[in-house]
Amino acid sequence: MRIGALEAGGTKMVCAVGDEWGTITERIQIPTTTPEETIGAMTAWFRNQNIDALGIGCFGPIDLRRTSDTYGYITTTPKPGWAWCDMAGTFERELKVPVGFDTDVNASVLGEVTFGQAKGMQTVLYVTVGTGIGLGIYVNGMLHHGILHPEAGHVLLNVHPEDHWKCRCPYHPNCFEGLACGPAIEERWGKRAEELRDHPKVWQMEAYYIAQALMDYICILSPEKVILGGGVMKQQQLFPLIRSEVDRLMNSYLEVEQMHHLDAYIVPESLNGDQGILGCLRLGMMELER
Ligand code: ADP
Ligand code: ZN
Repeated sequence: MRIGALEAGGTKMVCAVGDEWGTITERIQIPTTTPEETIGAMTAWFRNQNIDALGIGCFGPIDLRRTSDTYGYITTTPKPGWAWCDMAGTFERELKVPVGFDTDVNASVLGEVTFGQAKGMQTVLYVTVGTGIGLGIYVNGMLHHGILHPEAGHVLLNVHPEDHWKCRCPYHPNCFEGLACGPAIEERWGKRAEELRDHPKVWQMEAYYIAQALMDYICILSPEKVILGGGVMKQQQLFPLIRSEVDRLMNSYLEVEQMHHLDAYIVPESLNGDQGILGCLRLGMMELER
């Protein structure tokens, strides 16, 4: 079987073709410009690939309610030209194959659950810390949507006592994304996050924020594993800092085995950056099975 996969991001689109076992055979990247230009280039590429289905993991917010008139659309994004863009419908019409559609972070958690370290688990979280912060939730064997989809980057946190910089979220004075996304690090410390590796204070503060959010996610959703990805998480030194901060915040409250093995519980992604595109592949397969 040939399954198409599209990881739709605000700066680039990754298009791929693979099989049901998760082997990717073709892949291209297309910069995200206007919908007309970008979608035109993608449909042209997929049309030559002879695919049986397509899965799209998309930046948001998006409409996932199957009964809605705007199902499969990107909805209110500030990204110029992309608000109310019909993603799933356009690819379905152009390619005449079933199209699965979900958030980029749900695709990533699905990739890890299908092909990665979380294979066989029923409740797993994937947190991305990059340009924005998002949470993919796989719960009781299903991707979670709810009334929209989780917007867990906007949970409110206690501000670090030494953080005097203003949260960059236009809606909230102290939310996770506004305090801890890649651009927040850059604005606060005056350098791109990539260039701050040797500044321990940066990563202690970052871990302080990430751990607060994880504490809440863990208490609410009771996941079997918490996977962290996105550009900022390439700073591997964050992992031990986050684990010890989660341990401190939890304060021995949860008496479960996972809390004694945080190094196996709070972990980096396991698919060499392909968790998203492989999840999209699985989304396409799931749509075919529907
Ligand atoms: P996006 O979220 O746009 O899909 P990324 O996940 O790569 O893309 O996130 C981009 C953000 O991550 C930027 O703010 C960038 O500064 C930061 N970033 C990228 N690579 C690294 C790195 N190696 N170390 C720290 N931060 C990084
Ligand atoms: Zn916010």
